[in-house]
Amino acid sequence: MDLPDYAIEAHGVTKIYAAKGVAPAKTALNRLDLKVPRGSIFGLLGPNGAGKSTFINIIAGLVRKTEGTVSVWGRDIDERGRDARAAIGVVPQELAADVFFTPRESLETQAGYYGVPKHERHTDALLAALGLSDKANAYVRQLSGGMKRRLMVAKAMVHSPPVLILDEPTAGVDVDLRRQLWAYVSELNRQGVTIVLTTHYLEEAQELCDQIAIVNHGSVVACEPTASLLRRLDTRNVVVTPDMPVTAAPLLAGFETRLRAAGAFSVTYRTGQSSVEQVLAAVRGAGIHIKDIATEDPNLEDVFLSLTGAPA
Ligand code: ADP
Ligand code: MG
Repeated sequence: MDLPDYAIEAHGVTKIYAAKGVAPAKTALNRLDLKVPRGSIFGLLGPNGAGKSTFINIIAGLVRKTEGTVSVWGRDIDERGRDARAAIGVVPQELAADVFFTPRESLETQAGYYGVPKHERHTDALLAALGLSDKANAYVRQLSGGMKRRLMVAKAMVHSPPVLILDEPTAGVDVDLRRQLWAYVSELNRQGVTIVLTTHYLEEAQELCDQIAIVNHGSVVACEPTASLLRRLDTRNVVVTPDMPVTAAPLLAGFETRLRAAGAFSVTYRTGQSSVEQVLAAVRGAGIHIKDIATEDPNLEDVFLSLTGAPA
């Protein structure tokens, strides 16, 4: 069978949650279009309430879309729902641990649910890959939050799906565990697994993802390779350390400014329109004496702000 060009394809997906009691109807997705190239690590970014989880839950078959089409691994989720679900592993945003199972039992049960024959299961390898070998027979309720999260990832992979979807996988996970998780995810990707993740850690997305879609108010406002998304803005930051630390970023006409740590602030300018010289002139014009400056390439935070007008 030919492999699909896109691991996930969504066209015109709309989701309207029905009114409930005093809560009015809510349009969570508004004609969302998205193509996730096979083999990518694809980041789905957007402010809270943008519709990321709704989209993932539609793919997972947990939420019913109002309109539009979605296919997973070339399989339409309406026409071939079962086949589509077999192609993905989903780690939902909300942790739902089976408190009466041990991690080993939990994985075995999940494998049974997917119809994976006993001799094809890789329970021990999964436990080892996610650093859970020594907890294999502990009760899930005795695991830390980070361990539970990793168990959820292992559960999502029991049927060796070609696509792994992680909804805010690092929320509440400490730095070490986060690194382990990313190492595992990167290794899966090297083996050919397409990864889709949502995260609020913009720097992490910038580092990990080769493709990024930014979702705002239920629509995709940008979707491109990470490098081109960053290039698109063509902005630079000048970080100014003043003689006297400031408590608020100064207002400078024509520039975006933001407070940094230790009384410093950043000034963002467009490389095609102004220069560092002009930035420094504006800073001096505001009566600020400059002790030190540094320049920075734009990061996703800047891209995000300029596209959505909201902080992540
Ligand atoms: P994100 O994951 O990007 O934070 P969500 O998909 O969770 O966004 O939410 C998108 C919008 O839909 C939000 O306004 C949220 O309040 C609303 N929403 C999410 N789930 C439900 C639900 N079950 N019923 C009604 N509204 C919902
Ligand atoms: Mg969410």
